[in-house]
Amino acid sequence: MGTMSRRRPPAPPVPVRPRQPGRAERLTEVLERDGDTCIWCGRVLGGLVQPTTEHVVPRLKGGPSWLANEVAACRRCNAERGHRAPVDWLEECERRGWQPDAGRLGRALDALQAAIDREGGQRRARPYLDAQLRRLRRRRPPSGDGRTVAS
Ligand SMILES: [Zn+2]
Repeated sequence: MGTMSRRRPPAPPVPVRPRQPGRAERLTEVLERDGDTCIWCGRVLGGLVQPTTEHVVPRLKGGPSWLANEVAACRRCNAERGHRAPVDWLEECERRGWQPDAGRLGRALDALQAAIDREGGQRRARPYLDAQLRRLRRRRPPSGDGRTVAS
């Protein structure tokens, strides 16, 4: 008894991470950046329309857990989208007659690509993101967007 020979195993190193704000803080930052509507259905967030953030490139597809990979969405849309690709889900929202924000999605994907270029890595997310950006650019601009209606 009382032997001093057993040393405690060294504590696992504390992972050094870039500043990772908590969930509420992330939501606030995303809402300040993107506005307070759901990217998919356009409803104003708050009250019964519960605000969440979701990953543009799903974690399952290698999307990083960065703010640049998060967008504001309502809880319903977030849950219904699941792991669907963002452009697939955008088009599904359009079929449902919702008002998804394709412009915001394009900006989010561009910003994520810029962040990945800056930070490096993300080998799985890159090709996925490239394919989504190509699909988004191939889409025709939504009709009714221009000033085609004579006054
Ligand atoms: Zn929604």
